Amino acid sequence: MKSLIAGNWKMNGLTGSASEVEALIGKFSGALPEDRDILICPPATLVATFASSFSDEGVIIGGQDCHTNESGAHTGDVSAAMLADAGAAYVIVGHSERRADHGESDALVKAKAEAALAAGLTPIICVGETKEQREAGKALDVVGAQLRGSLPQTEDEMTIAYEPVWAIGTGLTPTIADIAEVHDFVRGMTGKDVRILYGGSVKPGNAGEILAVENVNGALVGGASLKAEDFYGIISAAPGNV
Ligand code: PEP
Repeated sequence: MKSLIAGNWKMNGLTGSASEVEALIGKFSGALPEDRDILICPPATLVATFASSFSDEGVIIGGQDCHTNESGAHTGDVSAAMLADAGAAYVIVGHSERRADHGESDALVKAKAEAALAAGLTPIICVGETKEQREAGKALDVVGAQLRGSLPQTEDEMTIAYEPVWAIGTGLTPTIADIAEVHDFVRGMTGKDVRILYGGSVKPGNAGEILAVENVNGALVGGASLKAEDFYGIISAAPGNV
């Protein structure tokens, strides 16, 4: 399978931020590598304009969250169908910031993933333990329970992102052995065709080592995806077919 390097811009980016994506494409001299997928998930306000500007250039565009319903009385929410209509191909669901800030349960994340699949999007379903859970030796139990509760029962294409909560935005990362252990565990629960991304403080300097781990099929990148130089460094460090 191709590796997938996904950028999660979170609540960052205005129309002028398109220049970062242009700069990223420029670093590849206009021709993006074909042996890996490059995905940018900007805020919902930028999905349509980024998709129309960059999809033809080979940058895949995705959303950061979706509602479980296709439409209706849900002020402020965005449906998977709307993201697909705007040109998105993927949507992140169950990011730890949404699980924490909005109290999202595994059951809700599963319903969002199902809504994404129904709209023709590939969901990126995020799981990961807190610092306390890791220190208590519960990382695999937590990730296992999240996967059992959050994954739709389907053969449709989906992607998993293992993102230890304590590694997101902190500059901390698990050891390579710990990343390998969790990814092997996730592989055992999901089957061979599912892409499993690692997320949490991936930078150009550590991407090569992390992305070389067996069963790490790409990265979900927050802060470092906002700067063309850093995101380019991570994409360049990724093995192509994994
Ligand atoms: C994320 O938000 O999914 C993430 C991994 O963030 P960062 O790369 O900044 O740790």
